[in-house]
Amino acid sequence: TNKTPAKPQWIRVAAPGGDNYETIRRLKAAAGLHTVCESALCPNIAECWHAGHATFMILGNGCTRNCRFCGVDGRPQPLDRDEPRRVAKAVAAMGLDHAVVTSVTRDDLSDGGAGHFATTIKEIRKNCPNAGIEVLIPDFAASRRALETVLAAGPDIVGHNMETTARLYPTVRPMADYRQSLSLLCTAKQINPECITKSGLMLGLGETMDEIRQTIADIRAAGVQVLTMGQYLKPGPENMDVTEYFHPETFAQLKQYAIETGFALVESGPLVRSSYKAAAQAEALGII
Ligand code: SF4
Ligand code: SF4
Repeated sequence: TNKTPAKPQWIRVAAPGGDNYETIRRLKAAAGLHTVCESALCPNIAECWHAGHATFMILGNGCTRNCRFCGVDGRPQPLDRDEPRRVAKAVAAMGLDHAVVTSVTRDDLSDGGAGHFATTIKEIRKNCPNAGIEVLIPDFAASRRALETVLAAGPDIVGHNMETTARLYPTVRPMADYRQSLSLLCTAKQINPECITKSGLMLGLGETMDEIRQTIADIRAAGVQVLTMGQYLKPGPENMDVTEYFHPETFAQLKQYAIETGFALVESGPLVRSSYKAAAQAEALGII
């Protein structure tokens, strides 16, 4: 049975299309690349791609984890060692002033894919020296060495999404750990205090307002400067049901709370995703 409540009118998703959309679609298909925009069935694809923004997903289209909200579906593939070069070429061809790169989780690789992230960052720097570089990384199973490898390549922003509250981790992210993800964010800041850290939350999985505020405070206490909050939308029939659609006014109140706890930048709204308006954030932070 579908327990998801009816979609409110503020969840409006435009159908993808338009000239720029087609250009990006052809470019990434020809380069054999994946985007999280498509793989996670992001509701902003029409808007973002029209504006020429896309978020690349490296390390393949298959994940070793099983987060119950996630639309990524498939088995991990052998590492594509030429992928970093093709991502950099696509960033250049698209003329991006800020490149956002994320990945699936690859617990099957000895370094969790950290070396692949580092190569991707270096290739983008080489091909697009003026572009900002933001990576949204997996938890690398708490490997400090993996984190050091990524940070040594010099990304401008390192993001890792907490996604949900501590109580919901065992049901929502059964193969991840709340404290481990928090400490990853904290360690990133210790390794390179210059690198901006970022995290994100998805609401509507059964959390209470108190739990959301606690999670925001925890993320801030880990030294994170940028926060995104958006509404969970069930991507497929096998995913978790939406427990609640939070009103845009509630997102605005949570943004206010987050700013009061000391975040430098907060994007909060029903359709906000971690890479939504990432270029505008990079500009506000003086990166580009
Ligand atoms: Fe892609 Fe991010 Fe925009 Fe969604 S919000 S379409 S994932 S760039
Ligand atoms: Fe999806 Fe979880 Fe894998 Fe990330 S780690 S791609 S959220 S299943």
